[in-house]
Formats: sequence, structure tokens, C-alpha cells
Amino acid sequence: MKEFGLAVWSHQITDFGGKEEVERHAEALAQAGFDLLIPCVKNPPGAVDFLTEVADVHPQYPEWDPLKVLIEACQSRGVKVHPWFCVFTEGEQSRLLREHPEFKAEFESAHRWACACREEVQDYLFQLYQSLALRYRPAGLHLDYIRTGGICRCAFCRRQMREQGVDIETVELRDPAFELWTEWRVSRLTGFVRRLQEFTRREGMELSAAVFAGYPDCIRTQAQDWVQWAEEGLVDFLFPMNYTNSLRMAVTRTMAHVALVRGRVPIWEGLGKFSSASQLSPEALGEQIKGVLEAGAQGVVIFHYRALTEEDLQTICRLRSA
Ligand SMILES: [Zn+2]
Repeated sequence: MKEFGLAVWSHQITDFGGKEEVERHAEALAQAGFDLLIPCVKNPPGAVDFLTEVADVHPQYPEWDPLKVLIEACQSRGVKVHPWFCVFTEGEQSRLLREHPEFKAEFESAHRWACACREEVQDYLFQLYQSLALRYRPAGLHLDYIRTGGICRCAFCRRQMREQGVDIETVELRDPAFELWTEWRVSRLTGFVRRLQEFTRREGMELSAAVFAGYPDCIRTQAQDWVQWAEEGLVDFLFPMNYTNSLRMAVTRTMAHVALVRGRVPIWEGLGKFSSASQLSPEALGEQIKGVLEAGAQGVVIFHYRALTEEDLQTICRLRSA
């Protein structure tokens, strides 16, 4: 089989246990041939698992610095680390929304979101990424929840669109003006990705993004046009979240992603070992890896680290050396 990229998302920095255990995890990842680890350091509640002045650090973040130890342990073994933010979700631990409740996005959702279109919100998240990058110097940064979360009707969005002659309280999908609104939302979100990419490029870092597998519907619902990001070279990797138990779905989506991106950016398919939409046996995981690579993906990203078993790792190793 051709060579392929191999990465894994991990939910929590606590997935790696105490200080001594971090080395063991890093060694296991390196042994299994992983190129990249993506540890979550900003979950939807909004506190962060790294040292910074910008946001509230999670109250359980220990005295020793797990992210620092993890980055050193992995990167010294050739496993790159892209710390992962759930970008625009700002829940009950959010300093941003505590200080500025007016920045909250207005739509129904399971999570609380900040309005991704607002300049001040983008500034906050940009500064947070920047503070991490400059302090820890990881190989790259990872974007998740890099979307609006819904169609926001906050005071800021209302005002911005009113200036363009669109009343977002009354405009309907069938009105041509609705698309002006969509275009504006897309431009705001893409502008944030562009700003971050200018920063990572300057710092010699990579930028990767977890994106919707169901393109292009995510353009209107989430303002996420990741094909445009590929066209403009705004990200170094795209990881479509292709979580399903259906091999047929996983492969067909991959064919669509590869066709859309046309080689501009590597596509590593996100496979759901265990997710809200999937749970894969070692055999099923192996079949999906083979299937998406044959469909043209350059790599795979497994969701998520704690769900991986010894058998899964053996399956992956066999595929890599096949
Ligand atoms: Zn808004």
C-alpha cells in the first residue's frame, strides 16, 4: 500500500495521565507510526488546558505543564503536535462571554457560541492561539468548531446586514438577499482562517482544520467554505470528519472531498473509531482506512485516542507496512 499520513485526535490533555505516563504514550504513538497528535486544549466550555493570560486556565490544570511535556515528548520522537481548539464555542467557563455577554451568538444550539462574525471575538481567539504558539512552539495549530455554529441573528449581525440593506429578521431563504447574508458570513469566517494562516506561516508552523464531511451544505448552515480555504492555500491539511459505520459512505464522501480539493491541500479523512455517529471494530477501522486511501485520501485521522485499542494499533501497523 502507498504511504499515508496518520494522525489522532485526543479529547483531553488528561488522556495522557501523569507526568511519567506522557513519555509512555508518546513512545507508543511513535512506535505505531503516528505522524501527528492533536490534543484538545480548548473544549466547548471555554476554559483552556495550557498556560496563558488570555483565557481562564482550567481549574484542574496541574502544577506541572502537561502540554509542554507532551509536545516535548512527542516532537522529540518525530510525532508532530497540533494543539486543538474548539474555536467559537464559549460555554460556562468562557472569560470572553463573562466579560462580554453581548458577544454571544443568537441561535438554538446544544453549545453556547460566541458570534464568530464579530471582530472582538475573532481578536480574542486569535490572541489565544498566538499566546499558545509563542509559548509552546508546537509544529502546528488545529482548528475545530471553525464554523459559526448556526445562523446568528445577534445585534452585531443585524446591524452589519442592515447596512447592506438586508433585514435578517424577515429575510427568507427564497429571497435573493439571503445569499448576501451567507456571503458575508462566509467572508467573515474565511477572514479569520486567513489571519491565522498568515500568522502560522510567519512562524513556520502548520495549520490544520477539522471540517464538515457534508460539503457544500456547511456553507449556508455554518459559513464554512473549506474548499475555498484549499483554493487559497489557507490551511496545510484538511481533515473532513467522516464518521460513519458505513464503508460505502466513508468511501463515497472521500471521493467527493478529493474531487473538490483537486490536490491543492492534503486530505486526511477523519475516521470515527468511537464517535456519536460510529463505533468501529479493528477490522472495520482497517477496512475504512484502506477504502478512503484507495479513494484518494493522503492520510487518516482517528477519532479518538482513548478509544484506540492494542488491536487497532496492530491493524494500523500492518497496513502501514503492507
Ligand atoms: Zn452574530
